[in-house]
Amino acid sequence: MIINKKIKFQYIKLLIYIVLIIVFSTFFKNYILLANQDSCIDYDCYEKRIINVLLLYDNEIFFDKEWEDNIKNRFDEINKFYYSNFKIEWRIIDKKQFKFDKNINSLSTLFTLHKSKIAKIIYNTKAEVVLGVIGRDIKGLGIAATFSNIVMVADSLKFKSFENSVVLAHEFGHLFGAWHTRRKNDFMLVSGAKQLLTSKESNTILKLMRNYKFDPKILVNNDIILNRISRLYNRHHAIGEIDPVARLLTDSGNKLYLNKEYKGALKLLIKSNEFFGRWGETRMILSKTYYELGLYNKSFTELTRAMFFGSKLDIDLENNLKKKFIDLQKIDPTIKNPFNLDN
Ligand SMILES: [Zn+2]
Repeated sequence: MIINKKIKFQYIKLLIYIVLIIVFSTFFKNYILLANQDSCIDYDCYEKRIINVLLLYDNEIFFDKEWEDNIKNRFDEINKFYYSNFKIEWRIIDKKQFKFDKNINSLSTLFTLHKSKIAKIIYNTKAEVVLGVIGRDIKGLGIAATFSNIVMVADSLKFKSFENSVVLAHEFGHLFGAWHTRRKNDFMLVSGAKQLLTSKESNTILKLMRNYKFDPKILVNNDIILNRISRLYNRHHAIGEIDPVARLLTDSGNKLYLNKEYKGALKLLIKSNEFFGRWGETRMILSKTYYELGLYNKSFTELTRAMFFGSKLDIDLENNLKKKFIDLQKIDPTIKNPFNLDN
């Protein structure tokens, strides 16, 4: 009886230890993560952050003295704004010529075409961010992928006006995850921002992410920070915007899909839908991922959802999926083909 009591006591003691360890480890994990982000929330305690930029110019620009001077003036204006609000300084450390496709007339198409090649260039430099400058008439003023390290701007007048500075400051903002707002006096205004001023929302996300190293891999598994960004975004954003966390997760999922890492892609794409489930692009990549994993019914469902949420049809995927169901029915006639509406 005494032995039994002793064992029972030791068992309870052990249980208490286990519970305490779990509680403390969770607490410390959160504390460490949040401490890194929260330890300095005041401008005064910020350390100055210098962000090195590699400038790529297209072959139609003769990168002359006028260009050099204008770019310098634009960076001076941007730095005045970024330094006074976030203690950040952007610094061009190198310039290189890059063969941007001359036949493309839209900045976003040009960006999509060249982004992976540009991303490779940065690995061999000390730059954190690449700025591509297009010096010809093209549709679009500026573009950047959320949480990435690539920005592209276009101007046929050699970047000579203050408005060019606003465009560039705005695109740099997207690298920290800033979304479009409807605040008139905000550099992240959805369209036609005219001033280098910041709203409460843009200010908060920039301050939260000012030390971000422009590497999405650091973020995708940090649920605490992802939830925090998403909560901030939900407080105020322009109509039709996609949650920046969903953008991040879908972009990262797509990269894994293209590398044929389908299970990893699946995880990120499902997570992206949890943040923003109405984005056709996520659904389409998810459909392709399910197809590669042999989950054809799920692939069909996501293909339908992708179309419902406005995605462009991927004809190859649709044809492959149709063919797959026909082949499967040859082996097992009881299998239903979801493309046949009468079954
Ligand atoms: Zn924008």
